Amino acid sequence: MSRVWNFSAGPAALPEEVLRQAAEEMLDWHGAGMGVMEMSHRGKEFVSIAEAAEADLRELMAVPDNYKVLFMQGGAIGENAIIPLNLMGSKGRADYVLTGSWSVKSRKEALRYGDVHVAATSEASGYTTVPPMESWQLSPDPAYLFTCTNETIGGLEYPFEVDLARIGRAEVPVVADVSSHILSRPVDVSKYGLLFGGAQKNIGPAGLTIVVVRDDLLGQAAPHCPSAFDYKTVAEAGSMYNTPPTYAIYIAGLVFQWLKRQGGVAGIERRNIAKAELLYGFLDGCEFYETRVDASCRSRMNVTFFLRDESLNDAFLAAAKEAGLAQLKGHKSVGGMRASIYNAMPLEGVQALVDFMRDFAARKG
Ligand code: PMP
Repeated sequence: MSRVWNFSAGPAALPEEVLRQAAEEMLDWHGAGMGVMEMSHRGKEFVSIAEAAEADLRELMAVPDNYKVLFMQGGAIGENAIIPLNLMGSKGRADYVLTGSWSVKSRKEALRYGDVHVAATSEASGYTTVPPMESWQLSPDPAYLFTCTNETIGGLEYPFEVDLARIGRAEVPVVADVSSHILSRPVDVSKYGLLFGGAQKNIGPAGLTIVVVRDDLLGQAAPHCPSAFDYKTVAEAGSMYNTPPTYAIYIAGLVFQWLKRQGGVAGIERRNIAKAELLYGFLDGCEFYETRVDASCRSRMNVTFFLRDESLNDAFLAAAKEAGLAQLKGHKSVGGMRASIYNAMPLEGVQALVDFMRDFAARKG
């Protein structure tokens, strides 16, 4: 068996230790005589798996007691509708900060459910910057303010923690799409009303959506909100109102345990900083490649770059594949290249990429 260095933006590489453990437990989980996929979600074995996963996630993110952790389905795109359906409430209006493809898409979906006000946008810079919080123009009484704190496609990450108290608007709940950097760096959950993300980047298999929501935001869903997507209903049923994605929750739980062994979020953040510094440091020092995101807002998770001579793109991707480096092609909407270096990517993988890129530049430059 030979595994490649997988730079996919998601579904993405998982820690090898986790995959090995899952393989070992595939047919018989802890003497249950069956695998996790085959278990009732209401049986004591699976309930213990789900409870441990939630407890570990709470510990890793230091989730305060007045927040619910929900294991949902529908992905982050599903949440783009589920959030307004739950939170738009009688106010009927929400504010959005636009920093790239995903927040733009979220706003578009929200328009179906109420008025949407753009509080700030970095469109003028081609979404290569994050508008400073002091420049945000919130509407007088929005139901919430929406942000996407890591734009997976552009490769842009907020360089600051969103904290509306700093602009005198602490009463507005902040919603953040953290799909592509959840658990990669510490986040002060208490500054947010709701955090959400698909699992398929830093957590586990696709099909599981994580929602962390403050208690006072429950119970405001629109009458036509599907019951399975009403946060209060889901919370009261312990994320088992309908059958949850059991196997994805189990793998997520193994990833949370793995992350604790890496020193938790603080430990993995140190490694993520080292990985990002290695790759951006190389890109900055090599004329052959170009980066476009403002240096202050570069994502540690999704490193986007371009070959100055784009006619070499196909040759670059083919040679990378040959060298065991997979999934480096940028998103079709922006072109270029993207190396997603989530928690499970070791420094060694990033070093292999840098070595390859240096060699390719020397051969073609
Ligand atoms: N938001 C962000 C920031 C993402 O990276 C993605 C997936 N690439 C999505 C939303 C959409 O997620 P899903 O496909 O799980 O609905």
